[in-house]
Amino acid sequence: MTLKINVLRGQDQIGGSIIEMSTETTRIIVDAGANLGEGKLYAHVPKVPGLFSGKPSYDAVFVSHYHSDHMGLLKHVVDGIPIYMGHATYDIALALSEYKGKSLEFSPTFMDEGVPVSVGDISVTPVLCDHSAFGTFMFLIKSSGKTVLYSADFRSTGRMDFSALLDVLPEVDVLITEGTTLSRGPDFHEPSEQELEDFAVETLTGHKGPTLVYLSAQNVDRIVTAYNAARRTGRRFIMDELTALVAETAGLEIDGFVLRASHSLADLGEIVATSAGKAGSQSGLFGKHRRAKAFPAVSERKAFSSPDFMLCLTPQSLINFQKVAHRSSFKDGVLFIARRETEILKPAASAFISFMKSIGAEVPVLHTSGHADSGTIDRLIRDVCPSVIIPVHTEKADWFARYEDECQVIYDCRDFEV
Ligand SMILES: [Zn+2]
Ligand SMILES: [Zn+2]
Repeated sequence: MTLKINVLRGQDQIGGSIIEMSTETTRIIVDAGANLGEGKLYAHVPKVPGLFSGKPSYDAVFVSHYHSDHMGLLKHVVDGIPIYMGHATYDIALALSEYKGKSLEFSPTFMDEGVPVSVGDISVTPVLCDHSAFGTFMFLIKSSGKTVLYSADFRSTGRMDFSALLDVLPEVDVLITEGTTLSRGPDFHEPSEQELEDFAVETLTGHKGPTLVYLSAQNVDRIVTAYNAARRTGRRFIMDELTALVAETAGLEIDGFVLRASHSLADLGEIVATSAGKAGSQSGLFGKHRRAKAFPAVSERKAFSSPDFMLCLTPQSLINFQKVAHRSSFKDGVLFIARRETEILKPAASAFISFMKSIGAEVPVLHTSGHADSGTIDRLIRDVCPSVIIPVHTEKADWFARYEDECQVIYDCRDFEV
C-alpha cells in the first residue's frame, strides 16, 4: 500500500487550500478552501470530479479551521461525502453565518482533539494549535506505516504554549507546512498577543478618554487581548453584537456589555448586558451559543455615560457607532487598529479612522499576524524531522530550499508517493 499526496490547489498561493491524500482504497480531502477575496458572492470551484461534481468518489473531507480559505468551498462538496471538523470550528462558522441570516449548507461529523478518526486505511488525528481562528487543528495523517503532518495555519505568538505543542508532535515522514509570512522578508518578527495586551495597557495608562478597538470578531484571541487590557485599566468592556456572539460561542466568559447592531446596519439599537465572569483563551468550553440579543437591555446613555469604556467594533457596527461618536467627546480617546493593513484600507474603515482622528482620538496599531514567522517554521521542522517538506499556503516556497541538504522539498506536489 502507498500513500499519495496531491496538492490540488493552494501550494504556491496563500489560501484556497485543497489537498488530496489517497491509498489504493481510500481517498480523503484536507481543507476545501475558497481563494482569498472570493466566496462572498462568487468563488471559483476547481474541476475535481467526485468532490465538487458527479458521483461522490472521496471518503471524507477534513477541515482544519473556519477561515474561508480553508472551508469556503464546503457548500460545493457533493452530497454523500462526510465532512469532519472540530466543534469550535463548526459552532463559530454557524454563528457567523446565522448572524448574516444564512445557513451553512452542510452538516459535519465532529472530531475531538487527540482522537484519531479512521476512514478506510487512513487515520487522521487532530492536534489543537494556535492561529487567529479559534480551535484550529493541525492533522497527523497515518497510513501504510507512514506519518504526514499538515500544519494548517499556525503561529507561536498566541496564548497557547508552542513548546507544549511541539512536545506532542512525533517525528514524521512528510511535513506539509504553511509559509504565509515568508514573503515578508527574513527579519519579519511579530509581537505576541501578550505583548499586544501589555502595549494596550501602557497606551491606555496615559489616556482618560473612551477606547475603541477595531477588530475581526473571528479573532477570539484578540477579543481576549482587548478584554484583558480593559480589565487591567479599569475600563468597562463593551462588544458589538457580532463580537459578543463569537465570544459566547467560543466559551469565553467575559464581564461586559453588548452593543447591538443589526447586520443590516439599520439601527444602532439598544445596549444589552452579558454574563459576568473571567476571560479564558482556547479554554475548550464550547457551550451552546446564545444569541446576544437574548441578554437584558440597558440604555445607550448608561453605556456611554462616562468615558471609561472600551468598545470592540467590527465592520458590522462601525458605521452605526459613528452616530454615537458624533454625540460624544473623544478628547484623549484611543482607537486601536486590531486588524491587518489590507482591511483598514477599505473605504468604510479608512473613513472611520479619519473621522476618529478628526475628533481627537489617537490611533495606534494593535495587531499581530495569525501565522508563523520563519523562526517558528524552523522550530516546527527541527522538531518533527521530516524526510520530505511540502510547502503550501505561501508565495515564497523557495525559502525552504535551505532544507534541501537534509530532506526532499516538493514544490509542485502532484501524486507524490510517500
Ligand atoms: Zn489560511
Ligand atoms: Zn487561517
